[in-house]
Formats: sequence, C-alpha cells, structure tokens
Amino acid sequence: MYIAANQYSGSTLLAFLLNTHPEIASAGHTIGWQGLSPEFLCSCGAQLRDCPFFTAIRRHFEEAGLPFTFDGALPTKYSISRFDRLDRIVFDNLPKLRSATLERARDRLVERIPGIRHRIEAADRANVTFIEAALDYAGASVYADNSHSPYRARRLAEISTFSVHPVHLVRDVRGIALSTHRNLGWDLEFTALHWVRVQEQIVRVLQNTPSFADCAAEYDNLLVHYEDLCDRPQAVLAKVVRPIGLDAPEGWTSFKSAEHHILGNEMRFDAGTVRKSERWKRELPRVTRKAIEARCRDYARKSRYCDALTQILDPMFGG
Ligand SMILES: [Zn+2]
Repeated sequence: MYIAANQYSGSTLLAFLLNTHPEIASAGHTIGWQGLSPEFLCSCGAQLRDCPFFTAIRRHFEEAGLPFTFDGALPTKYSISRFDRLDRIVFDNLPKLRSATLERARDRLVERIPGIRHRIEAADRANVTFIEAALDYAGASVYADNSHSPYRARRLAEISTFSVHPVHLVRDVRGIALSTHRNLGWDLEFTALHWVRVQEQIVRVLQNTPSFADCAAEYDNLLVHYEDLCDRPQAVLAKVVRPIGLDAPEGWTSFKSAEHHILGNEMRFDAGTVRKSERWKRELPRVTRKAIEARCRDYARKSRYCDALTQILDPMFGG
C-alpha cells in the first residue's frame, strides 16, 4: 500500500494506524531524508542504530550483500545524486510541464541511460529487501509506505515482486497552509497554490499509471480525508484496507499498544490516540480562508483533472 500526499497531511498518523493492523507493517517515510542519522530517535524510543526493527532491516541488507546506512536518504530512495532538484527532474515531476505523456517519455528515456538504470535496479532491490525484512519482522503480509511522492508509487508498481495499491491522503488546505507557514515561513496563498498543484500531480500520476487505472477510475475510492480519518477512524480505515482484502479490527482507534518503528514527525511520540489538528480555524482570518479557496477553485476549474480536484475540494469548502 502506498500513501501519496502533500507534506503536513497526517501521513505519519495514518502510518501509525495502519501499522496497528496485525497484517500490516510500516516504517512510515521509507526513503529517509537529508539529515537522517544513526542517532535519530525511532518511534520505539531507541536510536536507529539500536532499534531492533532497523537492526533486523540492516541484517537483511547485509545478508543480501547490499549497503545500508542511516545517513540521509535510505538506499530505497530512487536517486542519482545528493541534489534533490536533479532527482526530481529524473524521477519526479517535470517542472511546469504537467504532462503525463512527457513524464512517461522521460521515464523511458532515463531507463535507457546505463548509469541511471543501474541506480533504479539497485533501488528496486533495496525496496524489495526492505519490505520483505519489515514484513518478516512484523509477521505481516502488507507493507504501508507513506513516502508522499506519487512517482515513487509508480516506480514500485513496476517491481514484479509485489503489487501496489495507492491511497491519496488529503488534509484541508487551510491547515496545510498554516502548518507550512509556521514551519517553513511560506506565504499562505502561495502555499495554497503549491498544494493544489501537488494534488493535481498526484491525480495525474495515479490516473495515468496503467496498474492503478482500475482503482483510480472512481477517484473518490482512493481519497482519504485527514479530517474524516480523525472523526471516524474505524470507518475510514475499513475503507482503506477493504480493496487489499483485509478486515478492520474492532477498536482500531488507539495505536500506542502496538510495536511501532515509524520514521516521521514528532507525533511519533504522542499519546497514541487520534487527535485532529484544526488550529487554522482559530488562527486564519475569514478573508485569508476565502483567498485560499479562490486560489484552489480557480486552479481546479482550469485543470484537465477538474473532476478529481473537485472531489478533493468540495468536502473542505462545501460542494
Ligand atoms: Zn524502533
């Protein structure tokens, strides 16, 4: 299972909840990030180098003869350099082009370049090894990756070892705008525009990936709204796992009792109960909320993915 999302959308919370299911294992943000180190505290409270889960992962890599370190991005990341911008052009979105056809052509082109093909094959092997090790450790059958980028979901779907079921996690853009403004200093309206572009990108990639075509045809089936997840976790989680043939256990709303080794934000140390963050309702003035809505609606109206974007926006702003 793959969770595609904008940052600050509650993907760490969703990973915790999914990881509580006996058949599901998740390490959360499975590709690491710049600045990750062996001293980083896993959600189990141990440093990564001492955590039993990540020790088991490292052992599987050693047995497979593959490198594995906790310094920055993990070997599971599709990457050719330490420069994020270059990696984005090779593996993610082509800036400003917004074309599924050109992105597919780019994918076929880079796969023909021997040096890049070698890196893709190495990352494929690393992903298979990581996921098999995580499932083995947890005694689970489904792995949940919340690494955000839909392009990663597409890459993973090309590995024949497993099948990928995508989920598109959405949080109210006004909450995203406030979180991004507070954490990164971004302008609120600029964040709203960036957010709606990311939503369009996720829709475009999922709808244009052949193995996702069936489930993405009724796009609402892929959508998980963070606010719904917090209000009705049992029902929403049941909807998330039904397509992969799993039942939802009773009382699936508290997650502290299970063993977790999740790479994610600071909520990994929370009390283990679902708490909805809606600070924006207190802090964003009405005029700013209206401006954010106008930005998103205007963008969606002109998009060729208008239908799916409307399904994303209506629950926030009213249809
Ligand atoms: Zn751990």
